[in-house]
Amino acid sequence: MSVTDELVAANESFAASFTGGGLPGPPSRHVAVVACMDARLDVYRVLGLGDGEAHVIRNAGGVVTDDVLRSLTISQRKLGTTEVVLLHHSKCGMATFDDDEFVAELTADSGQPPEWAPGAFTDTEQDVRESLALVRDCPFLPHTDAVRGFVYDVDTGALAEVA
Ligand code: ZN
Repeated sequence: MSVTDELVAANESFAASFTGGGLPGPPSRHVAVVACMDARLDVYRVLGLGDGEAHVIRNAGGVVTDDVLRSLTISQRKLGTTEVVLLHHSKCGMATFDDDEFVAELTADSGQPPEWAPGAFTDTEQDVRESLALVRDCPFLPHTDAVRGFVYDVDTGALAEVA
């Protein structure tokens, strides 16, 4: 039995007692969260979010890529969100390797470089600051006055805001 099989079995139990149907698509709390994919970071529990309340956009590092800006643009312009929360965290896997070395490894293995930048970083707070600037400077976002960034401590559960 693969892990995927276990997940499908878990869903059968979930669906059997599911009572959360009928929610509207636009997030009821009008907020979008951009977070790292880290397995220790349960965005909904960490931020006290329930079903239907927020958009949660995740990738390796919580990096503000073109695709994250695409999602935020749709979130704001088509689904009514007005605030953005950026959520990085301590002990991130993105601080464990170097972009140039990783691109060299991928190129050697595949014969071609990736079209994307891996986005590794060493200074988490600085990466949050750069990510905040990318969101605030995005010309497609109508709401950039409430964009805030945080680092989640995976050992204490606490957030620290990055000014
Ligand atoms: Zn991470």
